[in-house]
Amino acid sequence: MRLHEYQAKRLFSEAGIQTPASGLASTVEEAVEAAESIGYPVAIKAQVHVGGRGKAGGIKLADTAQEAREAAGEIIGMDLKGYTVDRVLVEAAVDFVTELYVGVTMDRGAGKPVAMVSTKGGVDIEEVAESDPDAIAREHVDPAHGLHPYQARKAVYDAGVEREFAGDVAAILSTLYDLWDETDGSDAEINPVMITDDGAVVAADAVFNVDDDALFRQSEIAQLEGETSGDDLESMASEYGFDYVRLDGNVGIIGNGAGLVMTTLDLVDYYGGAPANFLDIGGGAKAGRVRNALEVVFADENVDSVVFNIFGGITRGDEVARGINDALEAFDEIPNPVTVRLAGTNSVEGMEILNTELVTVEETLEAAVQRAVADAEEVAQ
Ligand code: GDP
Ligand code: MN
Repeated sequence: MRLHEYQAKRLFSEAGIQTPASGLASTVEEAVEAAESIGYPVAIKAQVHVGGRGKAGGIKLADTAQEAREAAGEIIGMDLKGYTVDRVLVEAAVDFVTELYVGVTMDRGAGKPVAMVSTKGGVDIEEVAESDPDAIAREHVDPAHGLHPYQARKAVYDAGVEREFAGDVAAILSTLYDLWDETDGSDAEINPVMITDDGAVVAADAVFNVDDDALFRQSEIAQLEGETSGDDLESMASEYGFDYVRLDGNVGIIGNGAGLVMTTLDLVDYYGGAPANFLDIGGGAKAGRVRNALEVVFADENVDSVVFNIFGGITRGDEVARGINDALEAFDEIPNPVTVRLAGTNSVEGMEILNTELVTVEETLEAAVQRAVADAEEVAQ
């Protein structure tokens, strides 16, 4: 589960990390009101789950009420990389001299948590990790002992943070690690940590993701779930209990089993198409579930064709075929061409049952994917 910046900052602030004074707003009026009570200059920041909001126009500084009004007016309702902005965080602008990066995540290669610091803050850290990996100081942590204070200081010195601020930055890293550990974080990062000319060390941005499998014991964070997705399709899919990830292509994909769906995504890409989503319908594929899956995929306005990739195991192919027929018959009009590939138990029976007035049936996965890619191209034209 991915928290919004304002939610993550609330956690950080409660843990003792300094964050700018702020207010949340969903209308221009509220934004101006927040700015007035904070005092100028303010930063107005889109609350959507995308990185690089700054570059994409989702963050603006305002020196006056008039500017705050204009900035909030431009940001609220804007489309930021496929997400509609419905809330902004209005914050006291930070006048910074230096931007740092501080983060904690699980290093799966090493099988240990890792705490990181870099003086290359404020920029895309993935890019730094690739082009200049030595610019990120890393300390692996034994989870039984936590991040030792000397490790936090070492990471800060290794990164080359100025001595004057080293203690404060090390304290932020330690606090972030403890928070990450206590709240079952998966990724936590502050990019940038800003150092102001009067020496304050402030968390100017905040990313905090929590392990979904731990939400049962993180009830306070789990409560925030409703307001976190930010994508209506993802909320809808999550209500239906699907594993769903929205992507930016136009070929909708529905399959049973994560590996099967991933393979389908890869093949769509291989045949020159672009996947619109990952949707794992899970075990069983009764009509109700198929219908819900189709509802989610059809609701994505980018989708131009849909491919089903179903492997019959315990769920037999004929049952799935009936589910697909029933689900599609319930639509007055099927919005996009649908191709089905069935394999496994009773797949031959299933293919015979499928109503070819509603779907195209292909015998192989390759053929089904090529068909869906071709359909999408044709519809898109
Ligand atoms: P991101 O682009 O989504 O990662 O959003 P950030 O919150 O990290 O902001 C991106 C950049 O905008 C920062 O690195 C700063 O350069 C700038 N920025 C954000 N907030 C402020 C602020 O309060 N004051 C100033 N001067 N710049 C800011
Ligand atoms: Mn950032």
